[in-house]
Parts: sequence; C-alpha cells; structure tokens
Amino acid sequence: MKVHDFISKMYINGQWVNANDGSTFDVLNPSNGDKVGEVANGDRNDAQKAIHAARHAFDRWSCLTAYQRSEYLYKAYQLMMEHREHLARVMTEEQGKPLKASRGEIQYGADFLLWYAEEAKRIYGETIPAPRSDQRFIVLRQPVGVVAAITPWNYPMSMITRKVAPALAAGCTVVLKPSEATPLCAVEIFKIFEKAGIPAGVVNLVTASDPAPIGETFITNPLVRKITFTGSTEVGKILAKKAAEQVKHVSLELGGHAPFIVFDDADPVYAAKGAVLIKFLNTGQACISPNRIFVHRSIVDPFIKEFKNRVSGMRAGSGFENGVSIGPLVNSAALEKVERQVADALDKGATLVCGGHRLMDNNLDKGYFYAPTVLNDVTPEMLIYRQETFGPVAPIIAFDTQEEVLEMANDTIYGLAAYVYTPNLSRAMRMFEGLRFGIIGINDINPTAAAAPFGGMKESGLGREGGREGIAEYLETKLGGFSV
Ligand code: ADP
Repeated sequence: MKVHDFISKMYINGQWVNANDGSTFDVLNPSNGDKVGEVANGDRNDAQKAIHAARHAFDRWSCLTAYQRSEYLYKAYQLMMEHREHLARVMTEEQGKPLKASRGEIQYGADFLLWYAEEAKRIYGETIPAPRSDQRFIVLRQPVGVVAAITPWNYPMSMITRKVAPALAAGCTVVLKPSEATPLCAVEIFKIFEKAGIPAGVVNLVTASDPAPIGETFITNPLVRKITFTGSTEVGKILAKKAAEQVKHVSLELGGHAPFIVFDDADPVYAAKGAVLIKFLNTGQACISPNRIFVHRSIVDPFIKEFKNRVSGMRAGSGFENGVSIGPLVNSAALEKVERQVADALDKGATLVCGGHRLMDNNLDKGYFYAPTVLNDVTPEMLIYRQETFGPVAPIIAFDTQEEVLEMANDTIYGLAAYVYTPNLSRAMRMFEGLRFGIIGINDINPTAAAAPFGGMKESGLGREGGREGIAEYLETKLGGFSV
C-alpha cells in the first residue's frame, strides 16, 4: 500500500523548499524494508534559515491576541480530524504501528491542538500586594521566544502537536526537527498547519538524515531561546549540557523504566490484562512501557497464566492487516538491543515463559519483528532490570512486601511512569506518594491526556507536557514594580 511516492520538501517561512544542497534521503517502512518516500535532507544552513524565519515571525505572532492565536489552533484541530484516516495511513506505513493504534494517536495528537486553543486564553498574570503604599506589583507572562523542537519516531505525530500547540498558544514561534525515521508524519502535520493558515515563519520544519548538525545549530544560535526535546536520555543530556552555555530554556522528555506493581489483593486476571495492553502498546516502544513487572509471590502463577494466554493470542505483521497488534521494531539496532537483553537475562537465570526470538516466517524477516516475550525470575543483575528495553519483552519479578517493592521500584535512574494494582485505598495512596515517578497509574494503564501533565523525574526529564503545566514551559514571568 503506497500512501506516499513523491519527494517531500521542508517547510520554511511558509514555503515548501528543497534542502540547501538539493539532497534527499530515503524513508523505509520498518515492516518490510520498502521505500516509502524521499525527504529533503537539510543541513545547518537550512536550520539557520528556519531559525531566522521563526525569529522574524515572532514579533507579529506574539502580538496577536490570544483569541487570534486560538483560532489557528482550532482550525488545525478541525483539519487534523478531517484528515484523520489519511494521517493514520501515512503513520502506519512509515512507522509500522497497527492502523487502529495510528488512529488513536491522531486523536491524541489533535487533542493537544484543541486543548491549547482553549488554554491560550488562560495565560493569566497577577497583581501582588507591594511592601510600600506607593508601589504596585504586576506579574506578566510572556512567550520565551523562538522554540527549537526535536521529536522522536515512536509517536511521530502526537509528539509534534504536544510541543507545537502550547508553544503557539503561548505566542512562541517554532522550528521543528522530526526523527529521521519518521519525517513524512511531520510533513503531513505541517501540511495541516499550512492549511490552517498559520502565518509564514510561525512554524518551520527541517528534515535531515543526520540530526547532530541540526541540533548543534539549534543549540548554538542565540536566537533560539528554548529547546524542547523528546528522545533518549543520552541525547537529552548532550543537548541540556550545551544549552547551558547560553542558558536556554530546556524541556526534556527522556527514557523510562516503568515498574508495574501487582499486589496480592489485586485480581491477577484483570491486572494481567492491563499489563499486557500497556507492555505491548506500540510493541513496547514507549517511554511509559512497563520494564519491570513486580507481582506478589502469592499470585505469580495465575498472573503469568493469564499474561501468557493473552500474549499467545497476539499477532505480528503489517499494521494494515486486520487483527495485528504487534508491529515491527524501528530498526536493526533496536532489534539487536532486545536480543542482547533477552540473551543476558536467560544467561543469568531468567525463565523464558514465551517468545524469546526474532520473527522470520510469513515474510516477517523483511522487517524488524520480535516475538512478544515473557521472562520470569528476573533479577537486578540482569541488563533488562536496569536498561530501557523499548521492545516487546515483559520481565516479571516476584516480591513479598509493600516496603520491599517500593524500594525496588524506586531503584532506577528513571522516573517517568509507574503502575500499581490494588483495591486497597490506603495502600494505593501510599504507593502514589512514595513512588518517585512523574506519572502513576492506579489500577489504570492510561494516565495520559492532553489535559494532564506528562513528564518524568530524575533522568526521565525536565518539565511537563500537556495540561496547564505544558503551556507554562513556553512562558517567562515578568515582574513590573510601579511607583504610583
Ligand atoms: P531514540 O534512540 O529513541 O531514537 P534519539 O534520542 O536518538 O532517540 O532520537 C530522538 C530525536 O533526537 C530524533 O529526532 C533524533 O533525530 C534526535 N537526535 C539524535 N541525536 C541527536 C543529536 N546529537 N542532536 C540533536 N538531535 C538528535
């Protein structure tokens, strides 16, 4: 199924343009290795042009009323909904996720446009009682300026709107560099921005096969006042270090290693259903994916029985086929990482419940497919206990007490998402308070929405996206002291 067969350009200053040197790069479908399209291969010069366009557009955009900026975001929301099926098909072809999941992501992505269309009108300041009778304090909140955004391939459309919508609502202008694995999804979203009539230079897209020089340009150009990044902790640290040289604002949405905790009073069947759904969401390629499933020793057996049952029913393949719930991994490096972690775990004494191998039959060898895998008896010495997997492997660990599991769950450099299953309210509350993670699902596997703050503690990131907090990331506080 060909959704795209042309050369896609970049979007700079309201124009679709070729790369500075005219070069392009191929985009491949990770399900079968087929070429999906070609995209302009931007370089430093293109990034500079885009930054200048954004800086130029900033003065006018930031002076529009919140109501005017809101109108553009509403329009983009409506267009995204109107074109949802086309967008979903592009995503499935380029990223590999099942069509149903792509449709879900389009809705999630569009929700940010709608939410921030509304939130634009609620950027309130305040007045503060001053210490002198002839003095008045007024606090304004103003846009930070030009924003450079870098987004990943795993949620290739919603991660764009999650950044661009609040930035625009706040009055900022944006230059975006999407992942080299999913530039077509970005091109499609920018077509929506163009159709919505967003003025030239307010949103700019630079596609490139090599992200480093573009990132470097974003970081070193003083016109960029904020970097917002979603991706690996490793790259996030590099960007944050360099951004410090110009004291740029930084938001980071990085890796995770979510604990999923099932207490003895939870229904093991219900908990296993939830764990399977969230573990294999996007084939495990999500930063909120459970990476250690802690199950109370007394219910490990029924939990694993149900878990295995559900996993055996999952089918891998092209996202366009009905009934497929497991898509490909993004590339061979991702596949090798999963293979390495599983081999290491088995070497160190883990028990293989199911899966544990690459999928090769029915042409799956042309893509990067790995069987949904369950490992039991996982221990802290194993790589998988510490490293983010980003693949379809569920490591199970038995525990005995609440204190013990809380300590084990917090024993990670990451702090993004955690999940707890228990019907006991006081236990749920204590876990909610004690877990050092930014997002906690209590008997719930989907604690995310445009209206809710998403983000991590520790090495999972800085700042929040979504909700009231999401727009604050693009605003500065200004104090006025008036003598009257
Ligand atoms: P992952 O390992 O999940 O692909 P990355 O952090 O490598 O995560 O990629 C996330 C985003 O960061 C992508 O858009 C990618 O192109 C970009 N990226 C990777 N390396 C750099 C870099 N050195 N500078 C700027 N952006 C980068």
